[in-house]
Amino acid sequence: MALYVYKFGGTSVGTVERIKAVADKVKKAHEQGDQIVVVVSAMSGETNRLIALAKEMQNQPTGRELDVLVSTGEQVTVALLCMALHDVDCPAWSFTGSQVKILTDSAFTKARIRNIDSDRMREQLDQGRVVVVAGFQGVDEFDNITTLGRGGSDTTAVALAAALKADECLIFTDVDGVYTTDPRIEPKARRLNRITFEEMLEMASLGSKVLQIRSVEFAGKYNVALRVLSSFTEGLGTLITYEDTKVESALISGIAFNRDEAKLTITGVPDKPGVASKILGPIAEANVEVDMIVQNIAEDETTDFTFTVHRNDYLRAKAELEKTCVELGARKVSGDDGIVKVSIVGVGMRSHAGIASTMFKALAKEGINIRMISTSEIKISVVVDEKYLELAVRVLHDAFKLDQETKL
Ligand code: ASP
Ligand code: MG
Repeated sequence: MALYVYKFGGTSVGTVERIKAVADKVKKAHEQGDQIVVVVSAMSGETNRLIALAKEMQNQPTGRELDVLVSTGEQVTVALLCMALHDVDCPAWSFTGSQVKILTDSAFTKARIRNIDSDRMREQLDQGRVVVVAGFQGVDEFDNITTLGRGGSDTTAVALAAALKADECLIFTDVDGVYTTDPRIEPKARRLNRITFEEMLEMASLGSKVLQIRSVEFAGKYNVALRVLSSFTEGLGTLITYEDTKVESALISGIAFNRDEAKLTITGVPDKPGVASKILGPIAEANVEVDMIVQNIAEDETTDFTFTVHRNDYLRAKAELEKTCVELGARKVSGDDGIVKVSIVGVGMRSHAGIASTMFKALAKEGINIRMISTSEIKISVVVDEKYLELAVRVLHDAFKLDQETKL
C-alpha cells in the first residue's frame, strides 16, 4: 500500500463543481487501496479578498490578526472537500494546521515549519479515511495561528509528505508541468518529464512560479519525490527529483528569465579593503536585495562597481548609492532600470565545456548586446536590454534544441 500526498491549489478548488471534481479524483485513488492525504489551498481569489478586507479595517494590521484572518480561507476548503467526499461515500476527515500540529516559529505571515506530528493523521489513515489538511497554516509554540507565506500550501504538502514518508507528493495545479521556458514567449517550449531539485530552484527563483520556492528546498532537503501536474487534464506532469547519476541528463534543462531588473553602477571608487561592504551595507540595511555583483579591475587606484536589484527597489537603492558616492569620494552613480536577466539552467553543464560560448554566440548572431554575465555551477545568466527579452529566450531555446527531447 502506497501513501500519497495530493495538493490542490486555489484554481483547482475555485468553485463547488471543481471541489466535486477533486473529490472524484481523490475517491478513485483511495479506491485503488492507497492511503491519501490531501492538502488544499483557499478557493481562488479568497486569500486576496481577505487581505484586502484587512487593509480596509486597518492600515497595517498586526501579523497575528492577519494570520487568524487569512487562515480561514483554507479552513473553508477542507470542510467543503470533506463534505464532497462524504457525498460520494468516501470516508474523509478534515484537519486545520493546528489540529495536525504543524508546529512553526512565530514569524507571522511567513512562518517556517519546525515539526509535524503525524500521529493524528496516521490514526485516521489507519481507519481507512482520506485525510484532508488545510494548507498554508500552522501553529506556534504559544498556540498562535501562523501562515507560511503566499503559496505556502505547496510547502505544507511537501512537509507532510516528508513527515509521513510518503511515496510521492503530487501538486495538482493549473499547468501540466514544468516547461523548458514560458510557452507564452516560446510556443515550442516543451514539458519536462524530469528536473532536479537544484534546477527547479534556479527556475523557480528566476520567475517560473509554479511552486513556492521553499517547498522545493524542503523537498530537496528531505528527498521528497515531488510531481507537478494538471488537475484538469490527464498526464504525468513533471517529476522533481534528485540527480540520477545513472541517467545522463540533458546539457540544459530550461531557460528562465527575470523581467523586473535594474542595475546600478558607481564609478571611480577608491580601491581599498572594505569598499564593497561600504557600498552594499547601506543597500542591505534599506532592505534591498542585491543579485549580481561585478567589480572591475582597478585602474589608477580606483575601480567601478555594478550590481543589480529588483526594479521596484531601483530608486531607493540609487538614493543610498548616491549618499555612499559622496562619502567615499567616488566619481559618479549611474543606472538603468530597463534591463532583464535571462539564464540557462542545467546540471548537465557541470560536465560539459563550451556551453557559455554556445550561449554567447547565439545572442551575438542576433545582435543582442550582453551587459553583464554571471555564472554558477548549473546556471549562466546574462543581463540584456529589456527589448531583447523575448528574442533572447527564443534564440537560446533554439540554440540548445530544447524543443527536442534528448535521446541518450
Ligand atoms: N492561499 C494561500 C495563497 O493564496 C496559500 C496557497 O494558496 O498556497 O497564497
Ligand atoms: Mg500556488
